[in-house]
Amino acid sequence: MFEKIVIANRGEIALRIQRACREMGIRTVAVHSEADRNLKHVLLADESVCIGPAPSAQSYLNVPAVISAAEVTDAQAIHPGYGFLSENADFAEQVETSGFVFIGPDPGTIRAMGDKVAAIKAMKRAGVPCVPGSDGPLGDDTDTNLRVAERIGYPIIIKAAGGGGGRGMRVVHTQATLLDAISLTRSEARAAFGNDAVYMEKYLENPRHIEIQVLSDSYGNAIFLGERDCSLQRRHQKVLEEAPAPGLTMKQRYDIGERCTQACRDMRYRGAGTFEFLYENGEFYFIEMNTRLQVEHPVTEMITGVDIVQEQIRIAAGEPLSLRQEDIVLRGHALECRINAEDPETFMPSPGTITTYHAPGGLGVRIDSHIYSGYSVPPFYDSMIGKVITYGPNRESALARMRIALDEMVVEGIKTNITMQQQLCNDPAFIAGGTNIHYLEKKLGL
Ligand code: ADP
Repeated sequence: MFEKIVIANRGEIALRIQRACREMGIRTVAVHSEADRNLKHVLLADESVCIGPAPSAQSYLNVPAVISAAEVTDAQAIHPGYGFLSENADFAEQVETSGFVFIGPDPGTIRAMGDKVAAIKAMKRAGVPCVPGSDGPLGDDTDTNLRVAERIGYPIIIKAAGGGGGRGMRVVHTQATLLDAISLTRSEARAAFGNDAVYMEKYLENPRHIEIQVLSDSYGNAIFLGERDCSLQRRHQKVLEEAPAPGLTMKQRYDIGERCTQACRDMRYRGAGTFEFLYENGEFYFIEMNTRLQVEHPVTEMITGVDIVQEQIRIAAGEPLSLRQEDIVLRGHALECRINAEDPETFMPSPGTITTYHAPGGLGVRIDSHIYSGYSVPPFYDSMIGKVITYGPNRESALARMRIALDEMVVEGIKTNITMQQQLCNDPAFIAGGTNIHYLEKKLGL
């Protein structure tokens, strides 16, 4: 096992990884920007290294700085968390050629899954159901493109092969706007992702977002840890997640889960990963794979009892999976509310100093957050300041505990979206379960 790991991230996830390392007896190195000297995990770290000025491009995305932090501290491995360098294949490659272990899949897999067209091809080969769409990237022939759209049937969605973070997508309702939409998406994709490949998919009108968590080792063993429902989104960004997905049957869960583990074995996947699906009328449609830890991993941990971060570290250290599929028992229900430093009405970020903070608690309440009274939320990064996770023997109980936790939580000095999360937890359709990906925006009047 590793003796020392560099945590190449910030905020709540850096603290989460630090906790996992501590439990495993691994020392940690916190790398941070000049604006992040007072981050909780930096203050608690065994060692810390400042890797550059506040802007991420000069610090958290600065590959040579992160790697030299590992060199000067004599660490053996680097955990990238989520966001930042976590899905950057070039980074993973440089980590390995510099003699360190990248805690994640091998660079080739990251690269392949980062290209959505290549990912869909791999999934089709493995028998994972995909959204009906173009066979690969679109060419320049207008007649062919019109024919492909006709075959799929409107509405369709044009997507950038290299897209991410909810960007690089355009819905087309009629043939009249198809060709313009293709060239617009193409030029945006070229500018934003440096890759102008675009493809076409059927636009599903009222799907839910359901994803499968997998763990796969270097010896061909792969298991899935059930699913998460992340349908509550704003601008394609998840707001509240839960596990299991309301209404899914055991048979549906195993059918799709086994396809995902088969795909892992086929592509010799290594590490933790997530297969994202749209789910409509009882059918799953693959949209993309995330080759990293996800923000919403705790809801899976709560219902399975598996520490996903510790498993990632063990797999990266070359250990075989200690769990078999039959060891994975889904028990109870878990919810996660993302807490953001933002105006609950305009969604504008609200950085600043937290003057008062009272964390909720009690049975079945887990808080993954780096904030404390007196902490200043810097304006340079993502506005998420933590996650409230609740667990209960059933959904009703998890939801009751979430309402109580949100009521107890006090964050003063900055604005937060706690009131929006409270409204959501009292919303009749959400309480009933199974709302689709458009529900939240409709409710918010967007
Ligand atoms: P990103 O990598 O940018 O997150 P995804 O491919 O995961 O992009 O899609 C993000 C979100 O966009 C989905 O959760 C869904 O809300 C919407 N979306 C993507 N593809 C489709 C589709 N074929 N039909 C309807 N909605 C879609």
